[in-house]
Amino acid sequence: MRAIRIDHHGGPEVLRTVDVPTPTAGPGQLTVEVSHVGLNHLDLWVRRGVPGHRFPLPLIPGSDIVGHCVELDQQVAIQPGFGCMECEACLSGRHALCRHYIIRGERGDGGMTELVIVPRGHILPLPPDMDPAQAAGLPLALLTAWHMVHTRAAVGPGDRVLVQAGASGTGAYAIQIATLMGARVLATASTAAKRQSCVDLGADRAVPYDQAVDAVKSWTGKRGVDVVVDHVGPATWRASMAALRWGGTYVSCGATTGPKVELDLRALFFKQISILGSTMGGMAELIEAWRAVLDGHIRPVVDRVLPMSRLAEAHALLESRQITGKVVLAQDLDT
Ligand SMILES: [Zn+2]
Repeated sequence: MRAIRIDHHGGPEVLRTVDVPTPTAGPGQLTVEVSHVGLNHLDLWVRRGVPGHRFPLPLIPGSDIVGHCVELDQQVAIQPGFGCMECEACLSGRHALCRHYIIRGERGDGGMTELVIVPRGHILPLPPDMDPAQAAGLPLALLTAWHMVHTRAAVGPGDRVLVQAGASGTGAYAIQIATLMGARVLATASTAAKRQSCVDLGADRAVPYDQAVDAVKSWTGKRGVDVVVDHVGPATWRASMAALRWGGTYVSCGATTGPKVELDLRALFFKQISILGSTMGGMAELIEAWRAVLDGHIRPVVDRVLPMSRLAEAHALLESRQITGKVVLAQDLDT
């Protein structure tokens, strides 16, 4: 079968289509004919490489996999990450804390291929009326946002939440989850179209990045927000800190503009700020978030669907930050 494989790190040109052996399902495993794969910011890191981090190359990328399960004769999405199921973290249901946690397409082969084999417990059935391309825009970003907003920051009724980069995949789900939990959201985004998309998803208002602090002041009566949801990093760090109320919570699941920020410890302890890290989430959280999608509380945010053979172009698009929500790749490697 055909697959897109990364043999060494670099630009979009390292995404090469190659022939790989066709796998077969063993006991307790299922065969999924891949129809769509969602692209995440993680795919850019895997392709470029990260200083001090080793990816298991060669690697087939693609974390968000949707397709037809042969054995069940049903459309399914596949859980994007999984733990060892043996350690203390896994046994207590906190899979994302597992030291052997594997994200498909990051620490193990992903879905940019024709066929994948997965354990029976790793699938989420799609309802018949769900568009598989839309579904492929969900799992990783949805789970990340759910863990960050609901589990870690415990956003609740009446909370005021600032979502930085509200038009990104994670940002778009964070807006919807915070709204679902009864909170009100102010989002930031770079263009008028992106800001409109944030409002369409439930944000009270959306402003350019450089207006975040002033907007929060007028929106909260100078109090500041209860929670800041941020995965931008250094470019938004100062504004995020300034936007927090005393006793507020900052939660991060990424650092798209770089890994280091400067923390003023006086602000941390005087204002009694909580700074939380968040990565992926457990299976129970994904099931809970998935139910919110099925109930119509959260909708997929897919910007466009491209053929899988044009993955390099999709990477370039995501890097150019011209995307609102997610890019999904549709199967065409088999043609
Ligand atoms: Zn484990």
